[in-house]
Amino acid sequence: MASSKDTQDTIIKKYHKNSLTPFELDITQSLHYQKANGKLLVFQLLETNAKVLSTTLQKLKVPERDAVTIIEFSCKIIINENEYELTRVFPKQESFYEPWEIEGILIWFDAVKKLDELLLESHGKCFPDKDARFAIQDVGYSICPEKIHAWCPLPEGTLKIEDCYRGEDCWMGPYDGADAHGGLDINHPIGTPLHVPFDLDDQFYFNSVAMGNNNNRWRGIRRWENGSEWIIHSNHLAELLVEERTPLKRGHHYAKTAGVWVGKHEHTHFNFNIHEDGETFLLDPWILFWQMYQDQN
Ligand SMILES: [Zn+2]
Repeated sequence: MASSKDTQDTIIKKYHKNSLTPFELDITQSLHYQKANGKLLVFQLLETNAKVLSTTLQKLKVPERDAVTIIEFSCKIIINENEYELTRVFPKQESFYEPWEIEGILIWFDAVKKLDELLLESHGKCFPDKDARFAIQDVGYSICPEKIHAWCPLPEGTLKIEDCYRGEDCWMGPYDGADAHGGLDINHPIGTPLHVPFDLDDQFYFNSVAMGNNNNRWRGIRRWENGSEWIIHSNHLAELLVEERTPLKRGHHYAKTAGVWVGKHEHTHFNFNIHEDGETFLLDPWILFWQMYQDQN
C-alpha cells in the first residue's frame, strides 16, 4: 500500500498561468493541472518508447562524419481517463510540429529519457531527467503574456529542416548520426539581423571568443510576473550591437549573427530554457518559433 509520502511523490501539482507550463514525469507519476477555468486535468504517464527508423551508422552511438539517423519516440498517456498515444519523429520536417490539443489544453511532447539508449548527449544537454518531458498551456492562451517578435527572419509558413545545419540539427537531432543536438540550428548568411523576441531584463555573452571560448554565446533572461524565468540563447553571433547587462525591448535589433565558429554552414544556434519551481526545463526552441508564427498572423 502506498504511504502518503509515496502518494505525494507520484502527484505533481501545477496551476494555469499566463506562460507555458513545462514538466517532467516518470512512469507512475501524474500531473494534476488546474486549468484557467478551474477544472482539474489529470495527466498520467503510462509508457515511453524510442526507436531508430533508419541510420547510415555502422554502430549506434558511434559518430561518423555526415551520417544520418532518423529517430521516433512516443508515449502513452491517460488524460482524464482517456488513453492517448503521442508520437514524434526527428530530424524531419515533422520536427516542426503542431501541439496536440486534448481536453482544452495544448500539449508539446518534448522528449523521452529512452533517447539516451540511441544517442549520445555530447552535443549539448537536452535529455530529460525523468522518463518524459512535456509543456502545456490552456487553449486560447499564448505561451507567454507578450506577443513574440520574430527572433530572426522567418521562412514562409514554418521552419525548414533542410536549413538546420546539414538538415539534422533541430532539437536533439543526431549530429554525425549519433550526438543529440542540444539546441536548434538555423542557417543564416553572416550579418543576418537578430531581434529581441520579448522584453528582456538582462542579457550578456556567457562565453565569447574575446574570453577565449570557441564561440560567441549570448544569453537573454526574462522573469515573468508569475515568477517563471525564461532563458534564451543565440550563439555564433558575429557582432553584439547592444551594451551587455542592460534590459532590452521586444523587437530591438540586438545582433548580427552567424559569424564565428559556424562550421560547414553559417548558422545560429538557439536555446530555450525555463526555470520555475526550483527546476530548469530544457525545451525545444521550436515552441518559441511556433508562437512567433502564430503572432505574425
Ligand atoms: Zn547548434
